Amino acid sequence: MAAGGSLSRTERKAVARAEILQQEEQQDRRRQVSRILKKPVGERNPEESLLLGECEDIVRELERRRKKREGLRRRQEEVCDEPEELKRKVIELAAAVRSAKHLVIYTGAGISTAASIPDYRGPNGVWTLLQKGRSIRATDLSEAEPTLTHMSIACLHKHNLVQHVVSQNCDGLHLRSGLPQAAISELHGNMYIEVCTSCTPNREYVRVFDVTERTALHRHHTGRMCHKCGTQLRDTIVHFGEKGTLREPLNWEAATEAASKADVILCLGSSLKVLKKYPHLWCMSKPPSRRPKLYIVNLQWTPKDDLAALKLHGKCDDVMRLLMEELGLEIPCYDRTKDPIFSLAIPLSPDEEGSHSRRPVAPPWSLEEAQMQEQQQEPASPLSLSLSGGWFGRGCAKGSKRKKVN
Ligand SMILES: [Zn+2]
Repeated sequence: MAAGGSLSRTERKAVARAEILQQEEQQDRRRQVSRILKKPVGERNPEESLLLGECEDIVRELERRRKKREGLRRRQEEVCDEPEELKRKVIELAAAVRSAKHLVIYTGAGISTAASIPDYRGPNGVWTLLQKGRSIRATDLSEAEPTLTHMSIACLHKHNLVQHVVSQNCDGLHLRSGLPQAAISELHGNMYIEVCTSCTPNREYVRVFDVTERTALHRHHTGRMCHKCGTQLRDTIVHFGEKGTLREPLNWEAATEAASKADVILCLGSSLKVLKKYPHLWCMSKPPSRRPKLYIVNLQWTPKDDLAALKLHGKCDDVMRLLMEELGLEIPCYDRTKDPIFSLAIPLSPDEEGSHSRRPVAPPWSLEEAQMQEQQQEPASPLSLSLSGGWFGRGCAKGSKRKKVN
């Protein structure tokens, strides 16, 4: 710019024009080089090869970009470890679980796909649909049941091998697997829970149906009222772009405390793309040598892979089955008659009966069927008759009558 002041207007224009011409020439050359690079080496003619030699910088730059694209594509790919490799890794994981003093598990959509819940970020994923302002089909979620992974985690907690579970999932399946509420932080909410934020402490209403029918981003009122104070209830879901402020079921305090105490963190079926944004969960303020050891189970690349003590490329259910076998623990089967949602749920008042159209969690037919068989064998007792009503009655399944039997 030193000579700029002494140039006339015409001269400045000429300089600008020359610069534009040079840029266009450069772009043209890049296009040519890019076209030649796409050809197999043997098919390039002598002029083309000469041009590549003259434009080494452009060739290098294009090559660098191609590698970056390739890397991004590979990150999307699903990789599976060979069975022997996976087995060997699970033995290593089992040793870490056994020797851990404070083990925390982080879970994502990958642990629920076996429960036929759509993945969160796919084209039909929960969040993608929510972002487009569309609701998720109720059947997608309310028919889901805790998977082998959910049941294994609840069992590990029962045996004191896992201290806390932090989940990104809103499907409520950890709670339904029998894991105590205090041991779970559902960072993005729970679709079965609505709360009154006017009551102190916040009053929580667990329901047997998805409460998010009328809610969306920045719109959280469910349409029902607090039985105590009459204020509108809200769902607990934290959408993209929202900050979760509810104490329960998000339980941030417990999540942060668990992370600070953790010596081992096991990540199951989470891409960690969202979780990595919460530095508290990774003890990033501690020096690397004092941070918890990281074990990651995921089919795809995650941004924490390079920091992991071990990365297992496998489906969560496969890894957990092997892990539980290695630990000598029997995985409990999900039993709907013991699903805590039925005992935790607060029944709707008669005037709220028509306040939703979502199908309730199917009540434990197995219990009723067993009772019916029993009734066929012996005369009906007052107890078995009363049990077949209320929560477990057929009226509940159709969504018409929901009255709790006391
Ligand atoms: Zn209230």
